[in-house]
Amino acid sequence: MSAEWQSVPTSMWKAWSDAFDQSGNLSVEVLSLCPLCNQKGLRRYYGATKGPFISWKGKDYLGKGSFWEWCNHCHTYEHGSCLIPVSWVDCAPSLPIKEHNLTHTPNRLAAAIEAWLEQGLP
Ligand SMILES: [Zn+2]
Repeated sequence: MSAEWQSVPTSMWKAWSDAFDQSGNLSVEVLSLCPLCNQKGLRRYYGATKGPFISWKGKDYLGKGSFWEWCNHCHTYEHGSCLIPVSWVDCAPSLPIKEHNLTHTPNRLAAAIEAWLEQGLP
């Protein structure tokens, strides 16, 4: 496993977003296989939420923020700005993520999430 984080190649953007979109309930653990390495290990995290609450195209959001999507297996990742879905609050409160761990690459974020997952989901 490479220790270097790499962006999703342009040619794989659609396959990458489809894998996340098709994973059902919003969760840190994404059930789809990674489109790049064909292994399980996709993760997502929303953070750095800045209100206000917003409704857009019939969906409710906590506000603007940032997303991280990564594969724990091949260390491919995406990071950017987004609207954070309201349903994320059901998952997020028990996550031990400090804002200072939210760097561009999901290095520390991924380590914190894996440590949390090893303890078992609540
Ligand atoms: Zn992968």
